[in-house]
Amino acid sequence: MGKWSSFFSTDTKSLKSSEIRDLLKLTEGKSVISFAGGLPDPSTFPAEDISRITEDVLRSKASSALQYSATAGVAELRKELVNFSALRGITGIRDDNVFVTVGSQEALFMLFNILVDPGDHVFVERPTYLTALNVLRTRKPIFHGMEVSEKGPNVLQLEEELKKVSKEQGKPKLLYVIPTAQNPAGTTMNLDDRKRVLELATQYDLLVVEDDAYGFLVFEGESPPPLKALDKEGRVIYLGTFSKILSPGLRLGWIVADDEIIKEVELFKQNVDLHTPSLNQYIAAEALKRGIIQNNLPKIRSLYRQKRDYMLASIETHFPSQVKWSKPVGGMFVFSWLPDKIDTTKMLEDSMRRGVAYVPGSSFYYDYGGRNTMRINYSFPRKEEIERGIQILGSLIKEKLQ
Ligand code: PMP
Repeated sequence: MGKWSSFFSTDTKSLKSSEIRDLLKLTEGKSVISFAGGLPDPSTFPAEDISRITEDVLRSKASSALQYSATAGVAELRKELVNFSALRGITGIRDDNVFVTVGSQEALFMLFNILVDPGDHVFVERPTYLTALNVLRTRKPIFHGMEVSEKGPNVLQLEEELKKVSKEQGKPKLLYVIPTAQNPAGTTMNLDDRKRVLELATQYDLLVVEDDAYGFLVFEGESPPPLKALDKEGRVIYLGTFSKILSPGLRLGWIVADDEIIKEVELFKQNVDLHTPSLNQYIAAEALKRGIIQNNLPKIRSLYRQKRDYMLASIETHFPSQVKWSKPVGGMFVFSWLPDKIDTTKMLEDSMRRGVAYVPGSSFYYDYGGRNTMRINYSFPRKEEIERGIQILGSLIKEKLQ
């Protein structure tokens, strides 16, 4: 009990620091090979372009860029995002359907607060994005899962679960899903499954929050259209982010949704932070207008493809045959399923002692399952670190299996 803890609200007291996060903090400032983070490779940041744009923006429109701005976002950026969304096949939208947020994290926070009441039936992938899960947990829903294996999400299971819940427990409400280059699994939902998910959403009257954080980072084959591009009813709330395609430090994301939902988000954001930093929005608008982001995408994709190839080749060489792993066609992560006898949370201490960090998979499961799984990041570590780190992990796994 801290000196001030009796003053904390009940909800705040229920926020727990994860034991894994605490453990991973020990790596800070040490020479550990980290497969744990989800950081972009800093060589992808167009620093000189951003510097030039910032100067231009401050010279030509300082009075707006340094001023308060509209809660829904700077008009120039919303307009650019309408055009940019068309690259993902999202057409037929207006500026009013686009809402700018402080990273897609803020979008997740606001949407889950707006949409989820305690006891609501919420469907998520098993595993799914850790921080989305943590926000959802604060809303105290009843979770239901759609299993994701190295082959991708099991949409049939989603269908069965929806049927069961609506028959026995009550109305399903929301699906949170990352169809493309999923975090953490690294898998991508095929087009037929995407169509099926939308049919199920209609049949069970579900709202869908689609997190497309890696949609622009598919480096093998075509990136399948997001659910939003196939959505004819306005049921899909789409989340995009500049974090992986420009810079996460600018903290910029966006929502594409039906006007009615956008209006609620606007009311909510007025209470959170009034608006997303104006200067950053003008920078992003200009980066889109000048084609800097669009032109940089092939470079980022090619770099991550090389790093992915490097990691998969290393895994192939060093992991024992009983281990399974995903073969991502985009994004930043490989997910691995080890034999059940290995608990990756327990193994992390040994691994860190040998100089390698990863995220144990159980953090990505709403029920803390998946104790034999792990997420391995390839976007941030250097190539030689990937090879050495995977070799160390491989020998540790082999020892644990003996
Ligand atoms: N969704 C997913 C699936 C992510 O992986 C991330 C970042 N790791 C986010 C949302 C949040 O990104 P940001 O807030 O930087 O836009």
